[in-house]
Amino acid sequence: LEPLYSLMIRVRVPGGIATPDQWQRMDELSTKFANNTLKITTRQTFQLHGVLKRNLQKTILGFNQVFMDSIAGCGDVNRNVMCNPNPHQSEVHAQVYEVSRQISAHLTPRTSAYWELWLDGEQQHISAPNEGEEDAEPIYGKTYLPRKFKIALAIPPHNDTDIFANDLGLIAIEEKGQLLGFNVAVGGGMGMTFGMLDTYPRLADIIGFVPADKVVDLCEKVVTIQRDWGNRENRKYSRLKYTLDRVGLDVFRQELNHRLGYELELGRAYKFESTGDAFGWTTGPDGAHHLTLLVEGGRVADRPGNTLKTALREIAAFHTGDFRLTGNQNVIIANVAPEHRLTIQALLTEHGVEVAGNDLSGLRRGALACVALNTCSLAFAEAERYLPQLLTRLEESMKAYNLTQDDILLRMTGCPNGCARPYLAEIGLVGRSVGRYNLYLGAAFNGERLNKLYKEMLDEDGIVRELTPIFADYAENREPLERFGDFTVRRGYVHASTHGLNFHE
Ligand code: SF4
Repeated sequence: LEPLYSLMIRVRVPGGIATPDQWQRMDELSTKFANNTLKITTRQTFQLHGVLKRNLQKTILGFNQVFMDSIAGCGDVNRNVMCNPNPHQSEVHAQVYEVSRQISAHLTPRTSAYWELWLDGEQQHISAPNEGEEDAEPIYGKTYLPRKFKIALAIPPHNDTDIFANDLGLIAIEEKGQLLGFNVAVGGGMGMTFGMLDTYPRLADIIGFVPADKVVDLCEKVVTIQRDWGNRENRKYSRLKYTLDRVGLDVFRQELNHRLGYELELGRAYKFESTGDAFGWTTGPDGAHHLTLLVEGGRVADRPGNTLKTALREIAAFHTGDFRLTGNQNVIIANVAPEHRLTIQALLTEHGVEVAGNDLSGLRRGALACVALNTCSLAFAEAERYLPQLLTRLEESMKAYNLTQDDILLRMTGCPNGCARPYLAEIGLVGRSVGRYNLYLGAAFNGERLNKLYKEMLDEDGIVRELTPIFADYAENREPLERFGDFTVRRGYVHASTHGLNFHE
């Protein structure tokens, strides 16, 4: 007899776009083999939790039948490629999304092991594995990468994929509705280890501009530099951010230019305004309708009075557009046919789903939480299951200062690995031990500045006690349109973090 192992499986969904068939299948698999919920992750994928080992193969076969897989959902390879789900600028979005699919396909491991292990060698999609070829992994080689590698694309002014938190971030530059290319940012990453000050979150640096037709090749070259130069002796220092700070940006850029065979152009002007999602109905330039729904904690579930999971399953049965998972753990019902708009609206109301999130505070609308306890084995503390309770306490405190509708970014994780990107939150809470959190303040609202440690080891009362006077100060002394993160820096609660290297100072 072996223990009753239960596992998490993460699907690969480049750009976070799933068809109605795929949504229905994920819903069905979550009911049959997982814990009857779907988790939308901060990297625009689905996770299934609680899948028993004996059901793994059936679950993966279920993905495969609707042209999905879990290849590179984990491991020292390129992970799910994120892409701005912005439906408001659909022409450029379509072009950028296509680039994200090409990057994902190009950097998907070629090994046939996945198909052999899980699907008896049968494969439904993506390019055929290179079984039997001399160089089975033309990009990764025999040793793969030193660690995971993350890529995200974004179309300004929306930074809802948090591109600076990625090993490689690509900022779309457009002109008159046509995609010209991308600013290239390298060396972002959130993870650190408590007590090791030489580990730190870091934002990616912009090193130049690449035309759109050369961007897939550029991604390959950046990945191969990290493959060859990354630290393989200690996994704590093996992400690209540490490689960059070891060799220096100039040396990295020279090597990249050498491998590309041309010089990157200078980065172009752009402006990010926010990292959040805009909720409710919108209409694109082509007249298509889109609905962004808030999914608290990214957990698609049926709860008393709010049966979101059932509502989305029923919508998927007739919806002719697609579903877009956002990097903020929400879902967009996109490209809704005009004749379906009222039906979808009525269905959501019937199932108790508030469409625009207007009954929620600004703090809750933008909050992110990783899964943490009891699902993640690395967690020191609760996050997703506990955050709603903490938000209620903070909302009470903000109400006194009329801040309930202010958009303030709060993110919580159960450990310093930073899966919900807490170091980019205006209020970051990172679990230290059960019921205790470090409090970070001062990140920029648009994802362009890290926060900084303000207080350590706070319990719930401590968090509320520390934040309440800052809310009061913010309500009274902020400048017009000043964001909470900028305010906490200006008023001296924390110093601005200008680089990962001074994050701990
Ligand atoms: Fe687990 Fe830590 Fe990631 Fe949360 S941040 S999901 S606790 S590894």
